[in-house]
Amino acid sequence: MIQVEERDDLNPICPHCAAEIKRVFARKLESAFGVRFIYFCSSCKKTLGVSHRKGFWMG
Ligand SMILES: [Zn+2]
Repeated sequence: MIQVEERDDLNPICPHCAAEIKRVFARKLESAFGVRFIYFCSSCKKTLGVSHRKGFWMG
């Protein structure tokens, strides 16, 4: 089992530019399948991830 520890005093590191991520930019992606958000580094603008929410009806 892997334990998760919530830390507010540490910032994650961007895997692309190795900068501390203090702020994440997000852009809305709209399609016929629903709304998603793409998250990217505020420093190098490389993509960190995409939300997996498929639509409002699926939560
Ligand atoms: Zn970066």
